[in-house]
Amino acid sequence: MAKKTTPQLDFNSSWNYAPAPEDTKHINLKKQYELFIDGKFVKPAKGKYFETINPANEEVLAKVAEADETDVNKAVKAARNAYNNVWSKMPAAERGKYIYRIARLMQERAREFAVIETLDGGKPIRESRDIDVPLAANHFFYYAGWADKLAYAFPNRKPQALGVAGQIIPWNFPLLMAAWKIAPALACGNTVVLKPAETTPLTALKLAEIIQESGLPNGVVNIVTGAGKTGAAIVNHPDIDKIAFTGSTDVGKIIQKSIAGTNKKLTLELGGKAAHIIFEDAPIDQAVEGIVNGIFFNQGHVCCAGSRLFVQEGVADMVIRKLKDRLETLIVGDPLDKNTDIGAINSKGQLETIHKYLKIGKEEGADMYQSNCSIPKKGYFCRPTLFLNTSQSHRIVQEEIFGPVLTIQTFRTVEEVIEKANNIPYGLSAGVWTDKGSKIFNLTTKLRAGVVWANTYNKFDPTSPFGGYKESGFGREGGMHGLSAYLKF
Ligand code: NAP
Ligand code: MG
Repeated sequence: MAKKTTPQLDFNSSWNYAPAPEDTKHINLKKQYELFIDGKFVKPAKGKYFETINPANEEVLAKVAEADETDVNKAVKAARNAYNNVWSKMPAAERGKYIYRIARLMQERAREFAVIETLDGGKPIRESRDIDVPLAANHFFYYAGWADKLAYAFPNRKPQALGVAGQIIPWNFPLLMAAWKIAPALACGNTVVLKPAETTPLTALKLAEIIQESGLPNGVVNIVTGAGKTGAAIVNHPDIDKIAFTGSTDVGKIIQKSIAGTNKKLTLELGGKAAHIIFEDAPIDQAVEGIVNGIFFNQGHVCCAGSRLFVQEGVADMVIRKLKDRLETLIVGDPLDKNTDIGAINSKGQLETIHKYLKIGKEEGADMYQSNCSIPKKGYFCRPTLFLNTSQSHRIVQEEIFGPVLTIQTFRTVEEVIEKANNIPYGLSAGVWTDKGSKIFNLTTKLRAGVVWANTYNKFDPTSPFGGYKESGFGREGGMHGLSAYLKF
């Protein structure tokens, strides 16, 4: 009798699409970018510049000014003047109109923003086009609406602006994080000095162009590019009333220490290591797609990425088999191609960090599984990776990797999975897949995570607050909660 073999899907032939790269001809990038201070583009005091590259091909995109203490000082002075003389005196409804105008201009130039975001940061154009840019514009629209309604948001509490806000953002959602920071700050009547991440400064500088075009009074928003030292100069500046930081837990701790004993208000949005939980009664195919969306799209460069999978034992084999099959169909490659699922890792340094963790995972005794896809020779790319047979004490389970790497554990009972999910220094987000509403409510109250998604993952909306527990930080961004971070009462 002939031996029975399992039919194999030929993914290579059935999933080969013709390349569909986004056009870059409409993009107008300058060779050199200056600092945006007091409504003008100005050269840095020391005349220093750094290069920002395209991580998908390692080519230099532009030179960008490096701000030092003198420049930060100038930016804070401009923000203070604008606050004292213009912004705090303007009727709130007028402030709202400017914020609305920025949102409209961003929408009009959405395609340009999306392509630049992808060029500078390496994320797939599908993400920047359909998620980052529309959400960024929506944040400005949403907070424009709040500007003249603060008294209704906080009845009988007389909300007042704080003054000058220093804002520092990371590289994984460069434009979106700028919007999360700037829009509520302006709506509440503050002025701003913002520092984008070193590897992804370009969309923030494009935003500066839009801000100039919108006629926003000079000095209300200042954008200073540079490295960690520039960020530290903002944090330590004596004339800043509030620091809003999104980035790693390590830098968050440094910031918290340096402003201890000052009057500065602080919000910290830090790292994460989300538990993604699948119960036996879950819609398995949707759940598998949710897991893929939660960790592999956007290269795992998401603070709330579902990087720890917990599968209930009865369905573990099936889920793992389906995940492996799905992994084979993921396309890693040119981020400007609309077919691409996983783009470039943001920087050489980040790729090295991911490789370091792959090595640690193997040394810890976990079984590594990677897809067989081809990856471009140039640029920083990483195959989607699963780690099976992991345990709670493994470093790959406890530490944030920030790459397309998923650790998998199984569980039997609800109590067990809650304990495992919470047994971690982070508490930013989590995901639950089950058919039972009661199970969802039980878990959402017991999981120590700022956001818990049920039967979906990575869904964002400007009306919804976002933020962490424990070492994932404190304070909320988005929604009405996001307003109180920029007000005193
Ligand atoms: P990072 O190294 O902490 O950097 C974040 C920002 O801080 C960058 O602009 C960075 O400048 C600046 N910076 C570095 N050292 C500084 C210092 N001593 N003082 C002041 N500023 C300083 O984080 P990252 O690697 O860019 O971003 C990834 C991290 O962000 C992950 O841990 C992720 O989970 C977290 N994240 C959290 C959220 C959230 O909402 N909770 C959202 C997105 C990302 P340079 O770029 O020049 O180094
Ligand atoms: Mg870059």
